Order: sequence, then structure tokens, then C-alpha cells
Amino acid sequence: MDMWISEAQIPNAAMTYKIKETLVRRQTEFQDLAIVDSYELGRMLVLDGIVQTTIKDEFVYHEMISHIPLYTHSSPKKVLVVGGGDGGAIREILKHPTVEKAVLCEIDGAVIEECKKHLKEISCALDDPRCEVFVGDGIKYVHEHKNEFDVIIVDSTDPFGAAEGLFGGSFYKEIYQCLTEDGIFIAQTETPFYLPEVVKSVFNDARDVFPVTKLFMAHIPTYPGGYWSFTVGSKKYDPENPDFSGKVDIDGLKYYTKKIHSAAFTLPKYVEDLLK
Ligand code: SAM
Repeated sequence: MDMWISEAQIPNAAMTYKIKETLVRRQTEFQDLAIVDSYELGRMLVLDGIVQTTIKDEFVYHEMISHIPLYTHSSPKKVLVVGGGDGGAIREILKHPTVEKAVLCEIDGAVIEECKKHLKEISCALDDPRCEVFVGDGIKYVHEHKNEFDVIIVDSTDPFGAAEGLFGGSFYKEIYQCLTEDGIFIAQTETPFYLPEVVKSVFNDARDVFPVTKLFMAHIPTYPGGYWSFTVGSKKYDPENPDFSGKVDIDGLKYYTKKIHSAAFTLPKYVEDLLK
């Protein structure tokens, strides 16, 4: 008998994956956590029935959410990741030689524990001496740290449950205060094809706080619509036109390039119109 998991990505459309084996399935304090091994995408982390990251396509998301802000900032030293318990963003952040400290603030310790066991390719940098892991609510952590981080990456689940407060509103004002004077914020901000109002509202909330606010897209096969938005809020630097002078080239990347860095901000008209 074949085994399949089906992710209801939006109320009336789903993605279905044939799986070889369920490696973990447990109810944590915050969510239903599963790690399954799929035929097409390899092992995948699934939270509350939503595919978070897969061995086959995680490189797109983790490279773009990390290297866009870190190549934009002139010299990122301290970086905060809110969420990101799989460790993929931390792995990419620590490829930048200027980074002295990368803090991971993940609300659910079970995600870290299981990803360390079953997704080693993604979580491999969590034991790096420059990485500090804090298990707690990112909303509280950001509120309690002022003028501390050059880059803040909100690498969260979708805007409901524990992550609801991480999207827009007063949280972006808190992020602004938690950043240093030339800091940069980035968040995954959902699908403009299926959830245009969410993308528009979150972008407008960021634009109300940051002098430079831009959105870029990346191709992520396992996310609803396969085409995903990221919103960047910057106090000083323009993320679409970074100054690469003095920056090192990072070997082994599979999606991010200096050309796609700027090109990613060139949007299809329906997305441009959404942000007007
Ligand atoms: N979308 C990512 C990707 O593609 O790799 C995966 C993100 S990571 C698995 C999302 C994490 O955000 C989850 O582990 C979840 O526990 C965490 N999270 C949700 N709300 C949070 C909060 N308020 N503070 C800290 N972490 C939170």
C-alpha cells in the first residue's frame, strides 16, 4: 500500500507527497511535529500539517532569506533569527566571515531537537561556537533586546498560532528598536498569488516603520503557488542595490548569486500593483 501526505496549502487546494517512512510524529507544546521521508523531496519537516522545509528544496529559501540581507549590510556582525528551528538560516548566516554571533530564538525546543537528529544537513551549524540557541518567544526576545542586531531574520511558520504576532503591526516597531542604527530586517511574507491581502498588509506595516522597504520573490516548489515573497525593511542600505565591495564570494551556493540578488526584486506586474 502506498503512503501519502497531503498538505492543504489553502482551503481549496492541496499538495500531496508520496512518502517512504514517518521518522517522527509528536505533539509538542506548540504544534503537531512530523518528519517524514518522501520519494520526491527527501526528508521533510511538517508542522501542523504544513511542509516547512525539505532536503531537496530548502537551499532556495535558506540562501535567499540569509544572503540577501547579509550581503546588503556593510559588515554584519550580530544576527538574530526568530523561528528557524531547523537551523537552515543559521547555517547560511555563518558562511559570512564578518558574523561574530548568530542567535537563534525558536519557541519550540522540540523542533531543534528533532531537526538535529533527522535533518543534519540543515541543522549542522547549530553547534557552531558562534551560534547561540535560545528557546523562547521571539516577540518577547525582540522586546527585551534593544539596538543589538545588524540583521534580524524572521524565519517563522505561517501567520497563525504562535507566529501570528510575528507578522506586521507593533512587532515591526519592536524589530526596528532591536536593530542597530544601520540594521536590516527580513521576513518570509507568504504567497502573493493565493494570499495577496496578507502580503499587502505585512508589506505596508513594514513600510510604515522602515525608510527602505522592498519585497523580492523566490521559486520554492513546496510552498503554496511555488513562488514566495520576502519583505526587507532597512534603516539605511538599499537591498536591491547592494555594495559588494570588500565582500567575499561564498562557495557552494545553489540558488543565490549576485545577479539574482538584484533581479529577485524585479516583480511581476500583479505583485507590483499589490504593493502600490
Ligand atoms: N519556513 C521555514 C523554512 O522554509 O525553512 C521553516 C521555518 S521554522 C521551521 C519556523 C519556526 O518558527 C517553527 O519551528 C516554529 O516553532 C517557530 N515559531 C513560531 N512562532 C514563533 C515565535 N513566536 N517565536 C519563536 N519561534 C516561533
